[in-house]
Amino acid sequence: MHCAIDLDTKANISTASLDGALDRARDRGQVVELYAHNPQKTVKLSVIEHVLAGAQERGLPFVTYTDFAHSGGLGAGVALSFDDTSVRPWHDARPLFQQYGARVTFFISRFYAIADAERAMVRDLADDGHDIEAHTVNHVNSPQYVEEHGLAAYLKDEYQPSIDALEAEGYQVSAFAYPFGARTDELDAALRVRTPILRSVEFSYSGVVSPCPE
Ligand SMILES: [Zn+2]
Repeated sequence: MHCAIDLDTKANISTASLDGALDRARDRGQVVELYAHNPQKTVKLSVIEHVLAGAQERGLPFVTYTDFAHSGGLGAGVALSFDDTSVRPWHDARPLFQQYGARVTFFISRFYAIADAERAMVRDLADDGHDIEAHTVNHVNSPQYVEEHGLAAYLKDEYQPSIDALEAEGYQVSAFAYPFGARTDELDAALRVRTPILRSVEFSYSGVVSPCPE
């Protein structure tokens, strides 16, 4: 189970704790996982740049979720991901990614609603070396959907089609991010069969129970 730290402004992560996380990744030889949504809207570009520059300063390589799927011990690194459907802002951030040689992962939901012009932008991002992965069809709370409709319906309605839509466009899917990080052990076991890499989220604010297992 991969647990990413929320970089969005609302999560209120301080520069000091971000630097601490990058230092720990370097010192312990681990990959630090960070995620956000919409550059400029939910997360400041300056925060993204702080991560990218911080990785560069510490000699931390950028790791995508495909990299996790294809190699065992990755050593130290930074895995930055962006969720949902903010294709245009992601595309606008390309110069920033390029400046630092960053490779990031985009977990896309509602792919069916992405128009052709934006699909071409997803293609550009993939061509730049970024990783395109699945995040359900309609961004449902997965455990809740399973409770209401059953696991088979979840797999048929929300999980598998989100992979199929990306693969139809030529992207190889090996990872899946749970919307809201909401997961169960039952779901993990069922989804690992097709996507060996599963990403949940770690809440950085107090008083909220992390969906990530310790
Ligand atoms: Zn999401």
